[in-house]
Amino acid sequence: MLFIVEFSYKCIYPVISALSHSCIPNMELLPTIREAREEYREIEDPDPEAITAEEHVLTAVTTMPITAGTVLTIDLVPKPFLGRLERQEILRRKCVLRCSCPRCLSPTDLGTFANAVKCSHCAPGYLLPRRSALLNWSCLHCGTVVDSDSIFEKIILAVTEFTGVMKNGGGWEDLRTLQSTWKLTFHPNHYLILIAMREEAKLVEKTIMNGVAALKVVYKYSLDVSGAKYYAQMRDHCIQLLRFLNVSRPGFTFSRGKL
Ligand SMILES: [Zn+2]
Ligand SMILES: [Zn+2]
Repeated sequence: MLFIVEFSYKCIYPVISALSHSCIPNMELLPTIREAREEYREIEDPDPEAITAEEHVLTAVTTMPITAGTVLTIDLVPKPFLGRLERQEILRRKCVLRCSCPRCLSPTDLGTFANAVKCSHCAPGYLLPRRSALLNWSCLHCGTVVDSDSIFEKIILAVTEFTGVMKNGGGWEDLRTLQSTWKLTFHPNHYLILIAMREEAKLVEKTIMNGVAALKVVYKYSLDVSGAKYYAQMRDHCIQLLRFLNVSRPGFTFSRGKL
């Protein structure tokens, strides 16, 4: 396994490299001392010459009870909200790996519908990829078959919109608008909507740290003292995100704990 940080150096972890991959792993890697220091801004001006091996010791911990004989797994694409198809593509390109974990074998992403696209032929139906994303997609409800290119066009358009919003600072209103617009095309639990939701939650989280006054600026509304309405909206977001993580990151995981 290679660990790459901003100013380009690499570490090799021969023991951890021996762990298998799963999109629903039973282990997580703890942040290294270096990562923790950088996160808390202890290191203002990183000096590559000052890097020590001790700062980069990686620790893998199990996140659930493990019985003897269980294969120990970590996620080589540590982005739990990313869609199954996108994860498979990253694994194929970067790790030359074809994952066959339960999530990758499930057309519905284990019932989360994180890749499902609305069917244009029937109201309740959703299009899902067949065995491979490159094959046609079909509606679970009416059986309509759609070629994969037209699905990818929708996803590329949405990703372009999201990238544009984030480049412009990723404001709350824009993130909310994206979510509403995408719900006309994708399943409400589609991974792009979840990612936009997570970005919004991070924005609010960061702002709350600066107090309610700053929260007013984010939302551009007058808040009551507790901001109860907005906390309630964020609570609903977090519940939806947590439901997804219960499937993709079960156990005592950072992803769930940090929500
Ligand atoms: Zn997988
Ligand atoms: Zn349909």
